[in-house]
Amino acid sequence: MEENPKKIFYMLIPVIVLCLLVYSKHKKPQILVESGNIIVMNTIAKITAVAKDEKTARAAIDAATKEVKRLEGLMNRYDPNSQLSLVNRQADKEPVKIDKDLFEVFQRAIYYSKLTDGAFDITVAPLIDLFRACAEANTPPTAQQLAEVKEKIGCEKILLDANDFSIRLAAGGMKLDLGAIAKGYAADKAVAIMKNHGATGGLVNLGGQIGSFGTTETKGKWMLGVQDPANPQGDKIITAFALNDSAIATSGNYHRFYTIAGKQYSHIFNPATETSADALSSVTIFAETGTAADALATAVSVMGAEKGLELIKKLKNTEAIIIVAETGQTIKTDGIQKFLAK
Ligand code: ADP
Ligand code: MG
Repeated sequence: MEENPKKIFYMLIPVIVLCLLVYSKHKKPQILVESGNIIVMNTIAKITAVAKDEKTARAAIDAATKEVKRLEGLMNRYDPNSQLSLVNRQADKEPVKIDKDLFEVFQRAIYYSKLTDGAFDITVAPLIDLFRACAEANTPPTAQQLAEVKEKIGCEKILLDANDFSIRLAAGGMKLDLGAIAKGYAADKAVAIMKNHGATGGLVNLGGQIGSFGTTETKGKWMLGVQDPANPQGDKIITAFALNDSAIATSGNYHRFYTIAGKQYSHIFNPATETSADALSSVTIFAETGTAADALATAVSVMGAEKGLELIKKLKNTEAIIIVAETGQTIKTDGIQKFLAK
């Protein structure tokens, strides 16, 4: 009699396994919710969440949106009430205490400045402002103006104090611009918050700075495309990519530029030469974080094809696809293969 229940149990194993298989197939499917266009950080953002139900997905999107808006409130130098504006007004005179996120972005920015030999440099703001003023006056900058600006450029002049989260700028008139790193950083923060809110997958697109995690509701990778710089208004995609748990950012001179005396200048500047970086019309970087992708896309735009690709090849889990402005030639690093949509 003792053996019978055991026997029955063993006989039931295949039935139990079958039931589990059927159950997992019929488990509630994941659903995908899209935010629609959100105007934030001077660009159009779109956040997509995958979760077990609509309520969870919407909560994840709302929390991520709130976080991106909070970071914009810290890092927008064109908002006089932002902490960055306070830094730009006061830190050349006295240390300014700042939010931990702003402090972390400054630390990351200094890291990328060193990594790129100064090609990436958030102290470039006075140079940008000079070119903007020159575009308004329609006269190129003078040698004297450029020499004055030079005194204010250089990340080594940013002094951070981790004891009290304060910043001091060593030269009078120095100003910082986070336009090439804030969106990537915000995409990383948004991804983290969505995970905390129970999303199983997500895509955060902050004007081309994209963070992703998990998969779509059909367990597929996130599909993306790089726009044709020769036709920015069109919807032609030159290469399609499949992402999961990675970030991507594109810098290009085709969306924003200054025109002075009939000549176009990219909104990306080379801090060393004090001219705009126009050799590459598009730089797309794949990296583990949005912060890295964003900063490196700008840095490679400044460094140019040869030096830029040399750097990217040295970095772990980092790939690039660049388009040379003059010839239209597209160059990809070898590792890009794993991101190409099949
Ligand atoms: P997008 O804003 O389209 O993502 P980028 O990420 O390349 O483009 O950021 C460009 C912005 O970064 C410029 O508009 C300017 O505010 C700032 N910037 C320009 N040149 C540099 C540079 N060499 N290093 C860091 N930031 C820069
Ligand atoms: Mg960017």
